[in-house]
Amino acid sequence: MLDFRFSEEQEMTRKAVRDFAQKEIAPGIKERIASEQYPRDLIRKMAGLGLTGMNIPAEYGGQPTDWVTIGIAVEELAKVDFHAANIVFFDSNTSILMQLASPEVQQEWLPDIASGDKVILFGATEPDYGSDLSAIKTKAVKTEDGYIINGEKTSITFGMQGDAIVALAKIVPETKRMTPLLIPMDTPGVSKSAIADMGWEPIGRASVIFDEVKIPHRYCLGEEGKGFYGAMHLFGVARALAGLQALGLAQASLDDAVSYAKQRVAFGKPIGDFQGVSFKLAEAATNIEMGRWLCYRTLWMRDQGIPHVKESAMCKWWCPEVATQIIHDALIIHGHVGYSKEYHLEQRLRDVIGLEIGDGTANIQKIIIARDLLS
Ligand SMILES: Cc1cc2nc3c(=O)[nH]c(=O)nc-3n(C[C@H](O)[C@H](O)[C@H](O)COP(=O)(O)OP(=O)(O)OC[C@H]3O[C@@H](n4cnc5c(N)ncnc54)[C@H](O)[C@@H]3O)c2cc1C
Repeated sequence: MLDFRFSEEQEMTRKAVRDFAQKEIAPGIKERIASEQYPRDLIRKMAGLGLTGMNIPAEYGGQPTDWVTIGIAVEELAKVDFHAANIVFFDSNTSILMQLASPEVQQEWLPDIASGDKVILFGATEPDYGSDLSAIKTKAVKTEDGYIINGEKTSITFGMQGDAIVALAKIVPETKRMTPLLIPMDTPGVSKSAIADMGWEPIGRASVIFDEVKIPHRYCLGEEGKGFYGAMHLFGVARALAGLQALGLAQASLDDAVSYAKQRVAFGKPIGDFQGVSFKLAEAATNIEMGRWLCYRTLWMRDQGIPHVKESAMCKWWCPEVATQIIHDALIIHGHVGYSKEYHLEQRLRDVIGLEIGDGTANIQKIIIARDLLS
């Protein structure tokens, strides 16, 4: 039988994350944006609530839960602080790849991720290849002691602050087969440089260069050449979670716009009395509702083991696009004050655009959906 309610535990998680976000995360947002750093102490506080170990087995210190619940946490955090949501987003994502590692390597890294002491990055994109991922050039040469890696990754979220990167590389360069390799950021030969971005300031992106970087065999995650499957497994949830991050930003902006429309008076009445304003609010509420159910259903499909590549691509192209429009409309409804940095709207607009590109643009998602329809 169909049941569109969240479970009691899921509702409790939503409330716990909402309360935590208001109390612990909301204060200091502006300072974090100005400092372009996300404080580790705050990540550890998030870990205290289990938010960094939601996809980590209990034996490695995590508090594993279902993907719908992870979606709830990401959505609630994004309403208050998109950057906190983004940390939970990529923590739960990179944990997918880390679970391809041997128990020894998982024991070495996962407890520190769960406790918020370490953050792992994902390195797919290169300066010349983003959408066309299988064309990447980063090369790993297998030796008796391990692998020697040369190449460059770019656009790496949290790149200046992370502790290790799971980078996709090719062991046989002339094939499309990629292998995820775990590379601690303090390994000799790894260098990084920050990218000056229009949003995401406390998270940031970086280029990461590998120059004769040596790692042991055990840091090859899973079978050699099977990285594409690992990446697809990751994108399956990442794209639904990206949708919920975007919708969290949109919902917060809609809430602001509703309050403002009730109290701002023009031509002798609240601006919410004008259909030009109220219809925008109605459209936003409708689009958010539709997007949420698409994302939660996709995560539910993942929890049930049902294939969801097409659905997650739908979440990824549609939700950030409508969220961008909703935030833009909310800003315009705020008139001259919406354009000010005093309000969160301009920050949300700059942040949400990053979600339109990261993990694949709308065009790439539509290619995935169309391929499924036409095959
Ligand atoms: C905020 C942010 C965070 C990111 N974080 C990470 C990260 O942590 N790790 C990581 O590896 N990468 C990350 N990325 C990179 C991101 O995944 C890539 O930017 C994305 O996949 C697009 O690749 P590209 O930038 O090389 O664009 P390109 O592939 O060069 O595409 C350029 C344009 O052409 C269009 N295009 C390309 N091919 C086609 C086609 N076949 N049909 C139609 N249109 C096409 C695209 O839609 C795009 O608009 C991040 C990006 C951003 C903006």
